[in-house]
Amino acid sequence: MPFLDVPTMLLMTAAASLTMAASLGAVRPGRREGISLWALGLMMHTSTYVLYALRGLVSDWASIVLANTLLSGTFAMVLAAVHQFQGRALPWRRMAVPVAATALLFAFFIDDYRARIVTAGVVPPLQLGMVLWSLWRERPAASLRGATLLSVGLVMEVLLLGVRGMLAATRDIPVEGLMQGNAMQSITFMAAFVVVILSSLGFILMGKDRSDADNRYFAAHDALTGLVNRRSLIMALERDVARAVRLREPYAVMLVDIDHFKSVNDSHGHLAGDSVLRHVADLLRTRLRAQDLVGRYGGEEFMVLLPHTPLGGALELAETLRRAVERLPCVGGGKEIPVTVSIGVCGGPLQPADGWDRLVQGADEALYAAKLAGRNRVESTALAAPRPAPAPAVD
Ligand code: GH3
Ligand code: MG
Ligand code: MG
Repeated sequence: MPFLDVPTMLLMTAAASLTMAASLGAVRPGRREGISLWALGLMMHTSTYVLYALRGLVSDWASIVLANTLLSGTFAMVLAAVHQFQGRALPWRRMAVPVAATALLFAFFIDDYRARIVTAGVVPPLQLGMVLWSLWRERPAASLRGATLLSVGLVMEVLLLGVRGMLAATRDIPVEGLMQGNAMQSITFMAAFVVVILSSLGFILMGKDRSDADNRYFAAHDALTGLVNRRSLIMALERDVARAVRLREPYAVMLVDIDHFKSVNDSHGHLAGDSVLRHVADLLRTRLRAQDLVGRYGGEEFMVLLPHTPLGGALELAETLRRAVERLPCVGGGKEIPVTVSIGVCGGPLQPADGWDRLVQGADEALYAAKLAGRNRVESTALAAPRPAPAPAVD
């Protein structure tokens, strides 16, 4: 049976690693995402396979000891990249010990190919096992596809090296040398080529999926308070109001505006102003029911959507919130900043012609009335009751 040519496969793997490393430079220069560490690992992988391909042409110290140490370094970089991606400190000891062990063992077994295959069946699988453990110990929710692809690559490599090491240790299989074309070599180096591509694409996909998730989050949320933003509020309103009209359910909207907020900024500074915004946001968030939605409507203005809530209930809730804000000053930097809010509420029986904008307009008018009446108070606007149908004309 003709076997694949080993030097060609070694060089193909080196070329694949180098191409992937170069392509990663184009993905994103992000430092915290582990991409640079991954690329560094791929460069080490490239060097490993070039040195393998030069077996017999350069000294065994380079082609055996240095090459395998670089391979172990590659796996250490993979571990580092995963840790950096997860925002965790680099595990220096778990990176360095296997690399040092590899250097020593391969130096010791420089003349014993079988012992080297067994060593390669133990140390790299342990390293890759640590990578897999780091990858899955916190479920990579936002990057599941990428983590799975990466893991498939790593598991392939672990199985292959492990089985190969076990066979070399326990059976009298022919182990003639690296460059000898045989079935085991063909499978090993074909897999090495596939693993480079599969796991690198998995890692890139992890980064892409996470940044997609971040983009989705920030398209819907306000970065300062963590509340949903105006866009999400309007989308929820459109959906909820159409449903409330259809099911004839009561619905109310609340606009909460911080009083004299400009003077908080002016007298305590913009950062203190930001703390006050977060303080009020937290207070609103923690005091609402699960079905209510609070979001940042604009600068220092919050909107609360209250499904299944008649105007009377919404007014009671608004008064509770107003009092809570008044009672709890914003504490920060050794200072206490008193805060009050004015609240405009609009609700009532919705008519088929009522759009969400009627509710917002009503809440805005009520808020304006609360400000005019002296602030730190609640005002409301009831939606107009349905007009009676015109009496039929009588001749
Ligand atoms: P009123 O009682 O009538 O509501 O007066 P006000 O000062 O609260 O209202 P005004 O609309 O005059 O001022 C709102 C201020 O909110 C002006 C703007 O600089 C500030 N602001 C808007 N967004 C932010 C923010 O994200 N952080 C901070 N610190 N200030 C903000
Ligand atoms: Mg204000
Ligand atoms: Mg305002």
